[in-house]
Formats: sequence, C-alpha cells, structure tokens
Amino acid sequence: MSTAKTLRILQLYPNEMNIYGDRGNVLTLMRRAEWHGYTPEVVYHHPGKPFPKDIDMIVGGGGQDSGQEKVEDDLLKIGDQLHSLADGNVPMVMVCGLYQLFGRFFKTADGKTIPGIGIFGAETHAGPTRLIGNITLDTPFGEVIGYENHSGQTFLDASVKPFGKVLKGAGNNQKDNFEGAVYNNVYGTYLHGSLLPKNPVFADELLRQAALRKFSEFTSLEVDDSLADQARLVARKRPR
Ligand code: GLN
Repeated sequence: MSTAKTLRILQLYPNEMNIYGDRGNVLTLMRRAEWHGYTPEVVYHHPGKPFPKDIDMIVGGGGQDSGQEKVEDDLLKIGDQLHSLADGNVPMVMVCGLYQLFGRFFKTADGKTIPGIGIFGAETHAGPTRLIGNITLDTPFGEVIGYENHSGQTFLDASVKPFGKVLKGAGNNQKDNFEGAVYNNVYGTYLHGSLLPKNPVFADELLRQAALRKFSEFTSLEVDDSLADQARLVARKRPR
C-alpha cells in the first residue's frame, strides 16, 4: 500500500539479530507513525537477499556472537548502501550486536574479529565480564531507560558523539561513562528493553527525522503516553 504519507521501515536481520524484545522497536515505530497520521510499511532484510529500496528508517537489534557471525558477510555486502543512506540522513537505530557491527569491528571472547561497516568510528573488544542490568542515560532526548547485556566493550574515536551519558549502569565500556554513538541520524546503543516503547520522546524524534527528510515537515498528533510513563516510573526504580 502506498499513500502520500507512507513511511517505509526496514528491519535488518529479524531472525538472527532480535533479542530481548528488540522487535518492539519496530512495533513502536509502526504504531506511533499511525498515531501521528502516517502509514507505516515494514519490510525486512535477510542475509543473501536483495536490499529493499526506498527506505525511510532502519531498525536493527542485538544478538549472540553466533548471530553476529551469521550476518557478517551480508552486512559487509550491504555496507555501501547503508553508508549512503546514513550520509543521506535516514534515521536508524541499531541496538547492541548491530551497534557493535556498525562500528569497525567486534573482537569476541574467542579471539575472533567480526568486521563491521564503520559507520561509527568505534571498536569493540569482549571484556572479562558481561555487563548486565538496568541502565538509564542522560541524552538530548531526556532520560532514556533500558536494559543492557553485552560482553563487548565499545570505545569511540575522540570525534564521535555518544548517544548519552550513563546515569546508572555500564554503557559502552564501564570506563568513560558514555553510552552509544551517533552519526548523522544514525543511533547506536546497548539499550534493549525494548528501547522505544519506554522512550517515546526518542521514538518520535526518529519519526520526525524520517518525515522531515521525506515530506519536509513532521505533523504530530496528541498521543496518550500514560502507559509508557508508568513503565518508565517502574523501570527507573528497578535495582541495577
Ligand atoms: N554478542 C554481543 C556481546 O555479547 C552482543 C550482545 C547483544 O546484542 N545483546 O557483546
């Protein structure tokens, strides 16, 4: 279906990279797009398949190291297309495993190096302990709340902007207090949860960026976020 206000959302590798409810990010963008008067259309990219055209937003999730190995060859093949969409300001949100592979590489605990596509000037090395638990961030979109579970510790080049500062939790690497990375409208983060249902301000920002790019304006409607607000209150009180 195609209307003047259609937003085409691409989910990358839904079978291999989709853990801790990351699919909820796609569902949230679909539902909120509808609430704001847009028509969402969701398409998928699977390893070895042609990369879909006319994409307005891209969502990718986390996965085990083995899942990352399954998509590595294909990701390198579609890397140029992802770079040109990133340079063309397509909003993207990449969680955990795909965040790592949007950097230069992830070196796993087994000593394997899984190459990434380098949209983020960042590299990731497996650390001695998994970083697990509830996490809150201070970001330009207010307080962002989620859940992290990763062995990889990510270090950003000095020129790369983080997504936020860690208020509670580990974040990129436990050391520099940064979480995630940003390039144009591309956001990488370790936050599962799912991320977007509990963080509607950030979800709407992604929709705003997509609508501005496609229609030169974003027309938002009133949305009742009382359930999301309650979820945020509960999540914020959870122990690490
Ligand atoms: N396998 C990666 C790691 O452990 C990513 C984990 C994830 O996506 N949750 O660091």
